[in-house]
Amino acid sequence: MRLSIKMYLIIFISASVILYQYHLSNAWLISQTSTQDFRVLNAKNSEKIRNVTTPFNASSISNTNTSYPNTTALCFQPKNKDIDLPPLYIITPTYRRPEQLAELTRLSHTLMLVKNIFWVVIEDAVRKTQLVTELLEKTGLKYEHLIAPMPEQYKKKKKGPKPRGVSNRNRGLKWIRDNAKNGVLYFADDDNTYDLQLFDEIRYTKRVSMFPVGLITKLGVSSPIVKNGVFSGFYDGWMAGRKFPVDMAGFAVSVRFLLKRPKALMPFKPGFEEDGFLKSLEPFEPQDIELLASNCTKILVWHTQTKKNEPSQPLDFAKYNNTNLVMLKQILV
Ligand code: UDP
Ligand code: MN
Repeated sequence: MRLSIKMYLIIFISASVILYQYHLSNAWLISQTSTQDFRVLNAKNSEKIRNVTTPFNASSISNTNTSYPNTTALCFQPKNKDIDLPPLYIITPTYRRPEQLAELTRLSHTLMLVKNIFWVVIEDAVRKTQLVTELLEKTGLKYEHLIAPMPEQYKKKKKGPKPRGVSNRNRGLKWIRDNAKNGVLYFADDDNTYDLQLFDEIRYTKRVSMFPVGLITKLGVSSPIVKNGVFSGFYDGWMAGRKFPVDMAGFAVSVRFLLKRPKALMPFKPGFEEDGFLKSLEPFEPQDIELLASNCTKILVWHTQTKKNEPSQPLDFAKYNNTNLVMLKQILV
C-alpha cells in the first residue's frame, strides 16, 4: 500500500515536470513569434514614418508595393534605385470651400506613400490660402504652391456649368514646361480616390496612358474598350461627339511628349476639357494610347464626389470670446 502511494507521487511529480517544460517551451515559441511580428510591424511603420516625416529624398521614400515580402530587407537596405525612378508630377487644382482642407488632407496622405513625386497644387484664388501652405509644408513632400484664379468672365456666369479647375491646370502645365524635363504628369483633382498602384503604373508612360475611372456617370465607369488585348473605342456615359470621351483622372502624359507639343493647353469649355487637351497633343490618335490597369480590367481611381457643405454659421463672439472656438472658426469656411 505504502509503495503504491510512493509510485503515484513519483508519477505525479514526473507529469508536472513534463507539463511545466512543455509550457516553458511554448511560451518561448510565442515570445519568438511576437518579437518577429513586432519587427515586421516596425519595419512597415518605420518605412512609412520615414516617408512622411523626411522632406523629399528619393532614397528614403518607401516602397509603394502593397505587399511587404521581405521586411528585414526593406527596413535596412537603402533603396538607391529609387533615385532612378522617373519623377511623377501631380497637378492638383483646388479652391477654398468647406471641404477643401479635408480633401487635401486625404489626397496628401495618399501622395506621401508614393516615391519620387512632385505635387503641383494650384489654387483657384487671388492669393494663397495660408492653411493650404501649412498643410503642404507638413507633408514633407516636394511641392509647388501656385495660384490661378478662374477668369472673371467664367466666374460670374449665372447659367450652366463653369470650366472648373481649368485655369489652375493650365498654370500647372506652364510650371511643368518651365521646370520639368522628364517623367510623367497626371491631373489629380483634390476630391478623387487613388489606388497606390496607379502611381506605379503611370510612371512608365511613354506618350499617353489611359485606364478606367470608377463612379463616372450612370454607367458607373469611364474606360477605353479593350478587345482581344487591343484598343477598340471608349465606354463613357457622355460621348457628346468627343474624340477622347474620357475623364480628367483617366489618363497620364509623358513630360517629354508634352514638351514636344508647346501649344498643348486645356480649353475653357465645360465638359470638353479632357477632349480639348488630348486633341491639342496632336499628333496623337486614340490608337496610340497605352492601356494600363491590366488592359483596363481594374479600377485604380474613383471619381468620388464629396457632399457639399454649407459655410459654417457665424460664431457668437460675445459668448465664446477667449475660447478655443475662436481659433477653430478661423480654420472653417
Ligand atoms: N475646382 C476649382 N475651382 C472651382 C471648382 C473646382 O479649382 O471653382 C477644382 C476642384 O478643387 C477639383 C477640380 O477643380 O480639383 C474639379 O472640380 P470638381 O471636383 O468640382 O468637378 P467634378 O469632379 O465634379 O467635375
Ligand atoms: Mn471632382
